[in-house]
Amino acid sequence: MFTGIPGAAQPGGRAVSWALRLLVVGGLVCITVAWSQASNTVQVSEQVDWAPLGLAGVALVTVALLGSVLVARQAVAIRLSHLAPSIAGPEAWALATAPAAAVGMAESRIGAAPAGVGGEPLVAGASMARYHRASCPLTAGKPVRPESRSAHERAGRRACGVCAP
Ligand SMILES: [Zn+2]
Repeated sequence: MFTGIPGAAQPGGRAVSWALRLLVVGGLVCITVAWSQASNTVQVSEQVDWAPLGLAGVALVTVALLGSVLVARQAVAIRLSHLAPSIAGPEAWALATAPAAAVGMAESRIGAAPAGVGGEPLVAGASMARYHRASCPLTAGKPVRPESRSAHERAGRRACGVCAP
């Protein structure tokens, strides 16, 4: 979900989005000029002369649109990383927003819940193949229970690769 995108990253901003729009417009202008110039000639050799400009236009538009998709994807990832704890439920939200106080609160509520990594409980659902930190976005909205690492491993679960408990 957060493949290689640091949470503090900014998705470009206004300057980048305008630069990408200008690239698209520039590419479309190149394509239009190449097409209109080539269409005014009857010699194939003269038409071919405009091919590089047309191809450059196609490349510009492709790169700019690809960039737009990547910027949007990054913005979604950042937004999601801010929202994931609140989706996961009040306990994970409390863990994410006020770790020190909340861990104690969550553990006293759970009772004899075993402490996991850094005091954060290790959780998993009955049918899950991996166990996670309580704050892991992959547990968001899923019915999970805290257990000790050895209990998870006895149940055949492996550590999550995202939250690396
Ligand atoms: Zn995880």
